[in-house]
Amino acid sequence: MERMTDKQKILIVDDSEMNRSILADMLGGEYEILEAENGIEGLAMLRKHAGEISLVLLDIVMPELDGFGMLTEMNRNHWIEDVPVIMISAERGSSHVERAFEMGITDFISRPFDALIVHRRVVNTILLYAKQKKLVALAAEQIYEKERRSSLMIDILSHIVEFRNGESGMHVRHVHTLTETLLTALMRKTDKYGLTSQDISVISTASALHDIGKIAIPEEILNKPGRFTDEEFAIMKTHSMIGAEMLEALPDDYRDEPLVKAAYQICRWHHERWDGRGYPDGLKGDEIPISAQIVALADVYDALTSERVYKPAFSHEKAIEMILKGECGTFNPLVMECLGGCADEILLELGSDTTQRQSQREMQSVARELHKHEELTASERTLELLEHERMKYSFFAAMSEEIQFEFTVQPPMVTLTAWGAEKLGLEEIIMDPASNGRVKELIGEDNWRGLSDALHGTTPGHPVVTFDCLLNYGGSPRWTRIVARATWSSDEPPRYTGAIGKAIDIHDSRLKLDNLERMATHDAMTGLLNHATAKKRVMERLADRPDGKFALVILDLDHFKQANDTYGHMCGDRVLIHLAGKLRQSIRGGDIAARVGGDEFLLFLEYGGELDPIVSRIYSSISGSMFEDFPICLSMGIAPTDVVGTDYDALFHAADQALYKVKRSGRGRYAFYDESMRDMLSVISPIEGSSDAGEESGGEKGESEP
Ligand code: GH3
Ligand code: MG
Repeated sequence: MERMTDKQKILIVDDSEMNRSILADMLGGEYEILEAENGIEGLAMLRKHAGEISLVLLDIVMPELDGFGMLTEMNRNHWIEDVPVIMISAERGSSHVERAFEMGITDFISRPFDALIVHRRVVNTILLYAKQKKLVALAAEQIYEKERRSSLMIDILSHIVEFRNGESGMHVRHVHTLTETLLTALMRKTDKYGLTSQDISVISTASALHDIGKIAIPEEILNKPGRFTDEEFAIMKTHSMIGAEMLEALPDDYRDEPLVKAAYQICRWHHERWDGRGYPDGLKGDEIPISAQIVALADVYDALTSERVYKPAFSHEKAIEMILKGECGTFNPLVMECLGGCADEILLELGSDTTQRQSQREMQSVARELHKHEELTASERTLELLEHERMKYSFFAAMSEEIQFEFTVQPPMVTLTAWGAEKLGLEEIIMDPASNGRVKELIGEDNWRGLSDALHGTTPGHPVVTFDCLLNYGGSPRWTRIVARATWSSDEPPRYTGAIGKAIDIHDSRLKLDNLERMATHDAMTGLLNHATAKKRVMERLADRPDGKFALVILDLDHFKQANDTYGHMCGDRVLIHLAGKLRQSIRGGDIAARVGGDEFLLFLEYGGELDPIVSRIYSSISGSMFEDFPICLSMGIAPTDVVGTDYDALFHAADQALYKVKRSGRGRYAFYDESMRDMLSVISPIEGSSDAGEESGGEKGESEP
């Protein structure tokens, strides 16, 4: 076993034990020395200690494999680029030296040699290489960082598009992964498309941009809950051309970038189909660039197999079957073979998203949507494409947990999507919804009225109404956002005829948001407001009621550090929580209690008559009481607005000064700020936490001893 050291390793390859020994003696103090008797052994050492050897000292003439033989191998394996070699030899012929340098050695030392020279050259060479390695690593890091940043920008951009589409944000990521996997499989299968790993990386990155054109599609079409009209569908279809045009409009420098070129093809042609029935150009077969073919398939496959909690998803097999049957348009057979062939890989890459199976019933309900005719006329083809787009939309809608509905006033009726109805446990068509018991129970009278009032109150063309409410799903209320637009008759004046909209389950994100907000505004341990939030609220109150009488109180436990030491930190925590509870109880609605930090708390009180009795009541309800074995003892400083004014920082400073005065003068009481305390903090030296010696005597104006 070789000894493990932190020293850099030098490999000496020389057949003479004597020579090795001299060099080892000379360098062994600073470096760890490895020895080899010939080129074969030398190469074996290099292999064994790959990446660890900092330098090779190499002899030329050796049995088995000589120095040049070893250099040849080192060149073949590209080791010579990473490991510096110094040749040491008695062969001084210039042809030897030249040849050795040509083969990549760093230095040549002739025998007999001067020990000092060898030492210095070894050290210099090792240092030089280390520096070079660092530079290479730095450059690689910069390139990586640049790539990381540009793919980050692309991610953000594509998520903006998904966000606007009401999609989940996972679709882009899935399409990226699928594109990469499919292209790699295709590259393995055929060299027909001349794909390189670089192409695959560029196309996969560019795939994230496939829907950027949707940014130009009007919101009401993009997020239309119901079926598209022919005109709307025609507008929707323009997104592929718009995306391409957006990229074409980039400055020349960018347009020539491989990434932009790939993105252009993908944007423009990812709705083309192998049989020429796609759009916008009706390209056929391999007229469609392979990048766009692959993304088109990835796009459809992900729409079919994605599953969220409330969303039906097809299994991989079912999705393939549907694709093969041409239910989503036709694709390149070669590419489909790849899709079939890398099922396991895809499942692995996309994680559990696609592994869950949905029920037979759900499958059937979506399969109904997919029913299609054998022979299609032109208008049927449009209808089919429309159906596909609609299906894709409904997948996305479900993915974002949307329940789509239509409401008509006359006759009073709500129509729900099948999936939405099932989720809510309602019928798909509900007559007289306002008097339907199930609807009442689910939505609640108030919500129903609130929503109809909001819709009724709009005018034709008015933007959508957003209404957040708790819906009662099977007994458990969940936050739901209803986004709806009123519909109007074409009479003059227009009549309110109902609404079209969607309900989105926002419960989890709302709770998460509430929780985050709470964490940002409250002290985690005591549940009181934190100082920053308290300050904001105090300032709001002061601004709201400039004539009010207020006081800001700062209180701090006495000798709490000692208590912590005596009773333990856990007990200390419980004391703080207990104190927070007491403070909460002692104030009135509208007053504010907060934890400033450590054992320091803040109260903000509004009062009508005298301040002293209020402060005294609060003080004596807390200080002097016991909690577990711990006697609670407080010091308090009070700054009334009628003395200090209404500037928050001035109030806080004043209360702090009053508190400080109490701490200096024996603790265990409270004091009101007065002018005599002005700037006391900057004058007096810091108080000693543990010793009360030398304290001032109390009893000044405004100070009380309870
Ligand atoms: P003084 O009478 O001068 O206020 O003395 P003190 O010991 O209370 O000292 P000070 O207020 O300066 O220090 C606050 C101490 O409160 C320091 C620390 O031991 C304790 N402390 C601060 N935060 C926590 C906490 O979250 N939990 C517990 N258990 N102790 C805390
Ligand atoms: Mg304290």
